[in-house]
Amino acid sequence: MESVVLVRYGEIGLKGKNRPAFENRLVQNLRRALGPEVEASVRREHGRIVVDFKGREAPRQAIDRLRSVFGVVSISPAKAVPLSLDEALAAARVLVEEKLRAAKGQLTFKVETKRSNKQFPFTSPELNGRFGGYLLRAFPRLAVDVHAPDFVLHVEVREKAIYLYTEILPGPGGLPVGSSSEGLLLLSGGIDSPVAGWLAMKRGIRLRAIHFHSFPFTSDRSKEKVIDLAGVLSRYSFEPIPVYVVNFTPVQTAIRQHVPPAMTITVMRRMMLRIASRIASQHGIPALITGESVGQVASQTLESMAAINEVTSMPILRPLVAMDKGEIVELAQQIGTYDLSVLPYPDCCTLFVPDRPETRPRIERVRAAEADMPIDELVDEAVATVDVVEPVLEPSLSL
Ligand code: ATP
Ligand code: MG
Repeated sequence: MESVVLVRYGEIGLKGKNRPAFENRLVQNLRRALGPEVEASVRREHGRIVVDFKGREAPRQAIDRLRSVFGVVSISPAKAVPLSLDEALAAARVLVEEKLRAAKGQLTFKVETKRSNKQFPFTSPELNGRFGGYLLRAFPRLAVDVHAPDFVLHVEVREKAIYLYTEILPGPGGLPVGSSSEGLLLLSGGIDSPVAGWLAMKRGIRLRAIHFHSFPFTSDRSKEKVIDLAGVLSRYSFEPIPVYVVNFTPVQTAIRQHVPPAMTITVMRRMMLRIASRIASQHGIPALITGESVGQVASQTLESMAAINEVTSMPILRPLVAMDKGEIVELAQQIGTYDLSVLPYPDCCTLFVPDRPETRPRIERVRAAEADMPIDELVDEAVATVDVVEPVLEPSLSL
């Protein structure tokens, strides 16, 4: 009897000819999630993935990691036995013993058999009866309830083995990170942009991040907070997300000198996009990602977005565009970025918010407002002095 984990995936099954590439990517990411020190084989098998812990029980921590990998719809820790009814009954007994040990009093159950191997000499209803009868005789605390059982014993008779399990644990869904190219996330210390990055990763995008830092107006601590946020996001791809830290002080200073207060936010965003686009194209990254959401603040009206967007031809993904703040906050809490985001270190933008920002900037007026700024020189300087910082990954499992 082997202990394995069955990994199910959904959407990547729909990718036609690309399907093997997606499946291989998921296998690779599951492998990475376990880390180099965990002895296990990860293999594709007829529309799902089997993680085999080489004779050992699947460790709980490993199960938790596997079920957080994007692309995974659900997982089940399972027993695998050869095509023998006796061995399958013995494995069922072990699984049910575990269930009973964790509970008090009577437990109700039912058996659900799927037999894709039509050579196996019992039909599914026959197998349900055999397993049910055997378990009822073995454990007096068990009773059958086919409508609302406390647990279901799943039995799958496949080509080469029988799999048995009682748990189906949901995963995050989505697509495996790396299957949809790369994106450069504009990562502030706020609540929104880390969530936007997480949602982009969920669609298979591998992330790198860029952060605009205005030392000494903003402290080193605010920069570290952003690196820490990149670290939390890295938990979902199991590889460090590099952060390009841009010294934004010369740009901020130039904006203060040359741009009327009502336009500073718009011009600042345009400068961010110019610099981000340049760095993205230098690294062959085809898209930018931001945490903007329509109407949330002055710079996020459609008119502002249009005025900001004008400076780049690169696609800008805004995964939060239609979400309410409350929904974003809830997601931030779930993914573990919220507590860091609300730490009170000022961001470059909170510092320079004018009293009455323009909410409907006209493009010609924005162009006029920044006309006196040495834009190309500022972008060149920012790009030339960028610093790359990698967050420290959580230690890999050593089991
Ligand atoms: P967030 O919570 O992500 O900071 P926000 O609601 O505060 O978002 P803005 O401050 O208007 O919104 O910023 C809009 C987007 O611009 C952010 O989501 C982020 O993608 C990007 N951005 C803002 N400030 C920075 C910064 N200092 N470095 C990198 N990106 C930034
Ligand atoms: Mg912000």
